[in-house]
Amino acid sequence: MDKKKKIIIGLSLSLFFIWASPIIKAQTPNAIQFGNESHKYDINNDSITFFLKVLDENGKRMTQVEASDLEEHFTLIEDQDTVPRDRWEVNTLTEGQRIPADFTISVLVDLNIPKDGKKQIFNAVASLVESANDSCVYLSFFGDDVTQSQLVTKQNCKDFEGRFKNGTENKCFYSALYGKLSEFEWVEGSLKDSIKWEDGYDDQKNEEFKKRVQNGEGKNLLFVFTESSILPDIEEIDFPAFVDYNAKAVYAPKVFAFFYDAGNGISEDMESTLQGVTEPRDADHDIIPNRQGFYMPSNSIDSVVNSFKQVVRNEMYDFALTYKVPDKKIYSGGAVNYEALWDGQKIGLEAFSIGTPENPWPKRPESTGDSFVKYLIALLVTLATIVLFIIIMKILIPGVKSRVFSTKYYKPYKPVALSENVKNVKLKCPLCRTEIMPGDKVVTKCKHIMHVKCWKSNEYKCVEYGQNCKEGIQEHIHWKELFGMGTVRDCYLAIMGIMAGLVSWIIYELSGRGLFKSIATGIVTTFFGNEAHSLSIVSECVNKVSSFLTIGLLLAFFLSLIFRYYDGIKRKDWKSLLKIVGLSILSSAIGMAAFALGSIILCLCLSPESTNIPWYYSFPAYLLFSLCTSLSLTIKSTIPIKSALLGGLASAVIGFLVLYFSSVTNKRGSWLNMLLDFVIYGGGLGASLVTVRMLAEKYFLVIKDGIKAGTKIPIHKWMNANGGGHKVTIGMTQQCEIMMNWEKSNKVAKEHVQLYIDHAHSQTMMKPLAFTVFNTRTELNSNNKPVPLFNNDTFKIGDTTFQYVEN
Ligand SMILES: [Zn+2]
Ligand SMILES: [Zn+2]
Repeated sequence: MDKKKKIIIGLSLSLFFIWASPIIKAQTPNAIQFGNESHKYDINNDSITFFLKVLDENGKRMTQVEASDLEEHFTLIEDQDTVPRDRWEVNTLTEGQRIPADFTISVLVDLNIPKDGKKQIFNAVASLVESANDSCVYLSFFGDDVTQSQLVTKQNCKDFEGRFKNGTENKCFYSALYGKLSEFEWVEGSLKDSIKWEDGYDDQKNEEFKKRVQNGEGKNLLFVFTESSILPDIEEIDFPAFVDYNAKAVYAPKVFAFFYDAGNGISEDMESTLQGVTEPRDADHDIIPNRQGFYMPSNSIDSVVNSFKQVVRNEMYDFALTYKVPDKKIYSGGAVNYEALWDGQKIGLEAFSIGTPENPWPKRPESTGDSFVKYLIALLVTLATIVLFIIIMKILIPGVKSRVFSTKYYKPYKPVALSENVKNVKLKCPLCRTEIMPGDKVVTKCKHIMHVKCWKSNEYKCVEYGQNCKEGIQEHIHWKELFGMGTVRDCYLAIMGIMAGLVSWIIYELSGRGLFKSIATGIVTTFFGNEAHSLSIVSECVNKVSSFLTIGLLLAFFLSLIFRYYDGIKRKDWKSLLKIVGLSILSSAIGMAAFALGSIILCLCLSPESTNIPWYYSFPAYLLFSLCTSLSLTIKSTIPIKSALLGGLASAVIGFLVLYFSSVTNKRGSWLNMLLDFVIYGGGLGASLVTVRMLAEKYFLVIKDGIKAGTKIPIHKWMNANGGGHKVTIGMTQQCEIMMNWEKSNKVAKEHVQLYIDHAHSQTMMKPLAFTVFNTRTELNSNNKPVPLFNNDTFKIGDTTFQYVEN
């Protein structure tokens, strides 16, 4: 052919292709498959990348589609919003990336295959290695024995070429299949010791392989090359033994068997084994769909190698779609749904979990101004939370209780006829001393029936309350005292809890919202153990668990620190403070352990199909944390277990709901959600403790004479009515709760009297341990039985007179 002709033919050929190419491209894809979502938790790296694969109507990968086609026809929809065209770009994956890192491909080669054949297989494996991530491809051989699977990378690939040249006389076919299965599988086969491994086979070396196999859902593949010229050795492992092991296997790969028929035909045993391994069946004899590979016999080595290449090609991804996150968009957990449209037709759908409520993504760089504004808002939110708690505790709850009381006990007076003959006894109001007429509005809470008007003028209580009446009192809103110090005093534990929440949150933010990445990785990889999970959800879980552990550490520590400090410690010296810090470290360890346990539950809940973490999976972790932390607060403190448990339960539920609902509704200021969770949790726990305190806060001793005259000692902090059975001892030694160091006479014993609550009768008792004058007349000493203390009773120790007062 002369040069001219060549050019003409060349030109017309290229013209033909230019003309024909739109026709080839016009073929519409049937589906788009998403794979391997990735996004990094780094500042400024705010883009999400997916791998994409375009499939035809037979589910085969369409190789003729190009990046430019996607740019023309493709639309990405994120949670119903179309992602603007200028925010995403498509890149054709280069060789070496097309098979993502979460794939594991094991290639097993029969050394009996003729030399030429093995050479072609080596070349095909080499090109697979070129296309794949460097951690994906493993290679092994069988003949006289079975070799250990070894990682093949672009670097070391050439080194394996020589191995393909080895010949062999034997074919330990069953050992090979059984052995490869055992490399993938955590369950040991019963004939494990009969596998003819090569000398120096090391079970330990396989550990890494086993670990990565767990992470690939449907991405574990085994390619088997074998042939017909030599029959399989007769081994202890046979076809039934193999089928039995394969049925039990959990991580068994999808198997593709390529059989080269050198003209001898295939033995029945080999054929049924290869068919069995490529189409494993469950107990009901149905093919397990996600493990279905295929068995491909052929009498040409070319077509054997070609079918291998085809399978590999079909598993490959073609494109990486990178999507720049909108400037203000924050992802804080839950499923983000992605849809793929091709010319407006929906052909792909996938949901991914991006960010968590605890650690929203992306983190954007903050200028000093931004940070200032952020912490200022945080402070204002904290103040608003305090106001909210005061409103709830001092207005809402008393208001409701008062209303309930009024409807229950405010009634028109109805005289009770004692009998027909006896006239009704006239009833006088104990306050205004006028007769109560039938129909008058009265309060019927206690036996001292009063006018409602008089009841209210007497501060919403019975005139006898405190002396002869224990129940005649109504809770109500003290409007006049609302803005006084009393309110702060009543709510101080809630306020302190909120402040502890704020401090914890500030450290949480400054520390980068997750301090325990490596422990978290350990927990997640260990407890994802039973199932295979996609890599993106694994990284999401690690982030979440790391945040959990940090929250546990900080919140438990600061809440314990603050509640214990205000829990009426006797002396605020360095020893007591050290003890408080020590106990708080214990609390934070308990908090972390509880969150770790909750994280394990979270991991176990996630199935291999999960592509995102549902919000309610986090609840057990928060609940466990809250209960364990509040219980830890009762160690060596006067906080009763019952109120700690109830408080822990209530604040866990409220804090969790606030966090997860605000995450759903408030996508922009996601750090705010976490702050709200922290302060509401702390405040809630404090409020529940203070409520119990308020109920019990009514026992006082007032010193009536001497230099300490007028001093009011709250003794309820030692004598908790709700449990504990704590005692208050008065005497001269440091061991006494009340040490009478002001008393100059030598009439006071080391331990002089002991006060305690008789829980059976809810009665405060005084046990004399030395000479004590009771109510100025009765002389008591250590032989006397304990006496009940009523409001305003007095007792004299040495020269000091104490008056017992109940509020
Ligand atoms: Zn009255
Ligand atoms: Zn009364």
